[in-house]
Amino acid sequence: MALKVSRVIRRFVHYGPLLATFIIVLVTIMTLTCIMVSTPITSFKLPNGRPSWQHHMTLGSFINMTVFLCFAILTSFHFLACMIHGPGYVKNNWKPEVKDIESKLQFCQECEGFKCPRSHHCRKCKRCVKRMDHHCPWINACVGHKNHAHFIRFLFYAASGCFYGGTNLAATVVKIIFYGSKNFIIAYYFNSLPKFVILVFSCGIAYGVSLAVGFLLVMQLRDISKNTTSIESWIIRKAEWRHSHLGTTFTYPYHLGSRWNNLTQVINMSNFAKGDGYTWPVVPGTDQYTFTEEQIQQKLLKRQRMVDHVITGPYVTNWFSRLTLANPLLFCVCNGLDEQYIAVNKGDKVLVSRWRKRWLYGCIKRKLKNKDGKLVEKEIGGWFPRICAMETAEQTQKKVE
Ligand SMILES: [Zn+2]
Ligand SMILES: [Zn+2]
Repeated sequence: MALKVSRVIRRFVHYGPLLATFIIVLVTIMTLTCIMVSTPITSFKLPNGRPSWQHHMTLGSFINMTVFLCFAILTSFHFLACMIHGPGYVKNNWKPEVKDIESKLQFCQECEGFKCPRSHHCRKCKRCVKRMDHHCPWINACVGHKNHAHFIRFLFYAASGCFYGGTNLAATVVKIIFYGSKNFIIAYYFNSLPKFVILVFSCGIAYGVSLAVGFLLVMQLRDISKNTTSIESWIIRKAEWRHSHLGTTFTYPYHLGSRWNNLTQVINMSNFAKGDGYTWPVVPGTDQYTFTEEQIQQKLLKRQRMVDHVITGPYVTNWFSRLTLANPLLFCVCNGLDEQYIAVNKGDKVLVSRWRKRWLYGCIKRKLKNKDGKLVEKEIGGWFPRICAMETAEQTQKKVE
C-alpha cells in the first residue's frame, strides 16, 4: 500500500500532471468567478468605507454553476483515477502456463519475462504494459488495459468542461468589451489590464484544450470502435502490407464483429475495460497468439533490413552533445524531445533500423545488470547522431524518413 502511494506521488510530481492540474484549476476558478460576477448584486459599504457587493444566485446561475462543477469534478476524478490505477502492468517474470506457447510470444529482455498478447514494453514506465495504447505525458503514465476506460471519460469531461467553461469566459470577455460600463460589477472584478489578460488567456486555454482533447477523443473512439490501440493500428497497417506482398490476407483477431461490441470492451458501466488483460476474445480462424506471431514476423523482417554501422565518434546522451553534434536549430523538429537516445562509444557496432536526416535509430548490445545484480547481455535501442557512425555493410541504403 505504502509502495503504491509513493508510486502515485512520484507519478504526479512531473511537469505533465502538474501542468494539467494548473489548467484544470485555472479554468475552474476563472469560470466560477465569471458565473458569480454575472449574478444580480446588492451594493453596500464596508466599515473602512470601501464598496462591496452581495451576490444573489439566480436559478439560471445556479444551474450554470452546477453543470460546470460537475464537469470539473468528473474531469479531476477520472484524471486522478488514471494515475492511481495505472495502465496495468504484466506480472514480473510472467510466462505462459504451457511451455510450447513460449515460441509464439515475444520475450522482454528488460522485464525478463514474456510479453502477454497485446502487451508492449514502455521505456518510460520501464515495464511491460497490458494492452498498451500510448504513454501519456499528461498523466505521466501509460494508457493501458486498466486505465483506458477512465482515460476516455477524462478526455470526454475535459473536452466538454473546457468548451462549457470557455463559453462562459468568452461571454464575460464580450460583456466587458461591449458593455463594460453598464456591467459595472464585472468591470470592477476585471478592472486592470493584467486581470483582463488572465481572463482572455484562460478563455484561449479552455478552447484550445477543448479542441486538442476533443480531437484525441475522436481518434481514441475510432480505435476502440475497431478494438485496436494506437500501437495495434500501426501493426495492422504493416501486417496488411506484408500479407499483400505474400498474396495472403490478414485477419485482425480482436475485431468482434460490430462497432458496438468493440466499444463496450472498453466503455461500459464499470469504469474498467473487460477481461484480465492476458487473454482476449478472438474471431474464428484466429487464436490468442495470431497477432503476436504477426509481430514476431514483422520484427524478423525489420531485422533483415537492418544495416550494420560502426561508431566512429562517441556520443553522450546529454543536451549539450545533442546541440553540438546535430543541427542546433533543427534537432527538436527532426527528432522530437520525447524520444529515446543511446550513448555510443568509438568502435561500437550498431544495427540501424531507422534513418533520419541527422539521426540514426539503432540497437546495440550492452552488458547490464539484471534484477539479481548479475551482468547479462541486453539489446537496447535509441537514437544517436548520424555523424557519429559509418556504414560497414555493403548496402548503401540511405533512407530519410
Ligand atoms: Zn518489458
Ligand atoms: Zn509508459
